[in-house]
Amino acid sequence: MIGTKFTKDDLACENDVQKRKRAADTFKRLSKIFPDAKIALNYDSPVQLAVAVILSAQCTDKKVNEVTASLFKKYKTVKHFASADQKIFEMEIKSTGFYRAKAKNIIAMAKLVESKFGGQFPKTMAEAVTLPGVARKSANVILGNAYGVVDGIAVDTHVMRISQRLGVTKFSDPVKIEKDLMKLFPKSWWFKFTYLIIEHGRNICEAKKPRCSICPLNNICPSAFNLPNWR
Ligand code: SF4
Repeated sequence: MIGTKFTKDDLACENDVQKRKRAADTFKRLSKIFPDAKIALNYDSPVQLAVAVILSAQCTDKKVNEVTASLFKKYKTVKHFASADQKIFEMEIKSTGFYRAKAKNIIAMAKLVESKFGGQFPKTMAEAVTLPGVARKSANVILGNAYGVVDGIAVDTHVMRISQRLGVTKFSDPVKIEKDLMKLFPKSWWFKFTYLIIEHGRNICEAKKPRCSICPLNNICPSAFNLPNWR
């Protein structure tokens, strides 16, 4: 099945074994071209990472790093964030967008980490997702990078879009996409997969105009042959 042309018809009759083989090929090819794929956010502690992740909603990692370069000099510990003045904090993070909601969530998150978790960002998914501003995707990013705890696959906008284009999920709900991906890959690949796909999405399979003609996946991706306007 995997050859010079992989079409949506091929996809329709692909079985689970073939899909896993294609997923493994995808992982290996992307690992070759993006061997250093990793998180782009800067941080010095789990709570700073949690703050950076909350700030990154609807904002680029580059902008978040610009803002946190000075923010993290002032706010280093959970206590610092928990006792931040909301109005001042809002102004300090304003350029990341949605600053009122983000400031509120960050301060509330830090207060809860202090009162409920003894000042240390929790190490389990069940606990992390109880914090304001921390949903499953963010928790996957924080736990994986801060503690090496891998509970699932972080599904951001790149992972969502590219998983659909590759035909490895038919869902648009991130939690359902995550479940599909977790079935396809061995657990030891889950953490790396997110960062490989993010690099791929930034450099090749861009949202508006995927560069299928130079894509290393173009003979195992059904979208390469069905959306000619993209090329
Ligand atoms: S072939 Fe095109 S649509 Fe498929 S992964 Fe590559 S760039 Fe994206």
